[in-house]
Amino acid sequence: MFIEGVKSTTFAPMTMITVSNRNYREAWEKLSAFLEKAHRVVLFGHRSPDGDSVGSTLAMRLILEQKGIEASVVMSGSVPSNLLWLPEVEHILLEEEHGDQIDEALRSADLFICLDFNALYRVGKNLEERLRRALSLHTVPVLMIDHHLDPFDEFDWQWSCPEASATAEVLARLYLGTKDAGAITKEVATALLTGIMTDTGLFNHNSSSPELYELVAALLRCGADKDLIIDKVFHNFKEKRQRLEGYILYEKVQVCRDINAAYFTLSLEELEHFEVSTGDTDGMVNKPLDIEGITCSAFFRETVDEGIKISLRSVGNIPVNELSRHCYGGGGHKNASGGEMPGATLDEAVALFLAYMREHHTAQNK
Ligand code: 5GP
Ligand code: MN
Repeated sequence: MFIEGVKSTTFAPMTMITVSNRNYREAWEKLSAFLEKAHRVVLFGHRSPDGDSVGSTLAMRLILEQKGIEASVVMSGSVPSNLLWLPEVEHILLEEEHGDQIDEALRSADLFICLDFNALYRVGKNLEERLRRALSLHTVPVLMIDHHLDPFDEFDWQWSCPEASATAEVLARLYLGTKDAGAITKEVATALLTGIMTDTGLFNHNSSSPELYELVAALLRCGADKDLIIDKVFHNFKEKRQRLEGYILYEKVQVCRDINAAYFTLSLEELEHFEVSTGDTDGMVNKPLDIEGITCSAFFRETVDEGIKISLRSVGNIPVNELSRHCYGGGGHKNASGGEMPGATLDEAVALFLAYMREHHTAQNK
């Protein structure tokens, strides 16, 4: 454990933040060595980006811009509507809409940085193909900065911190925790705090370390607009999305007392009826965990062309990442994981979940 004195911005006086016992200083130096040689960087977020993916890539783009390095942000899927206010969000290139621009950015880049995911396939099938094609044509270092467990061994340099609440926290520690890293602007601080607040579910999970709050304090001193984030991200849902939540809780959640679990499904027809897109259902899987005695929750969503997408959450010692890996070829964190079943039906995906839970998790007390 060591303490860094950080002079961070025009907004903040000298700030003391405690960083974890990882050597962020050394990591920043390694990253800087790549950045010094870079002129055009492509930043990747994971498919169907969430607040951490969008927040950390946009923050990194702004940081690089400040250093005079051009950076593009590329992703598959869509940016959730409650994140569209983030600074410079309009620069994000989406695989489905900006394929040609993405190919051009990949062709001219001299550095790739992956943020908030731990294996290249997580960018989504088509974007992965574009990325691998670009890599087959010219050599570009691929870096990774992330907080997911079990990273693939396919990066030229990685800074993987599974103990962190969010990739935005990792990036903030890299940038704030080392005094040579540079000034942080209000926009960068707000994007980073968005990643932390969304990935922790407003400091509900994975957020018990005192160091996290010291870091949040430092971001606030840099001008991070917490109230704006609360307003725009958490109190800004479309009416239909809120009604969908009511429908799920009233009509759809199945409670299985024998395994202390609850689950719900949403068919394409239901999703169309409520006019919601992928990002709009983010967080709904957490709702059944509010039911007394429930320690595991699953959400099964039918997709147009990728079969069934599964989201899992748990509390305490129930490793849903093992369940995801075993049943759905997925992964993630111990208490928050996901996976998919291409070509399956909702019933088949649910049956696998119930069978696994009944075998591995007999009733536990909350
Ligand atoms: P969500 O339920 O929000 O989609 O995903 C929660 C977490 O599960 C993600 O942060 C990620 O770590 C993991 N995850 C979700 N989907 C997949 C997947 O298809 N494969 C893997 N390996 N992990 C996933
Ligand atoms: Mn994350």
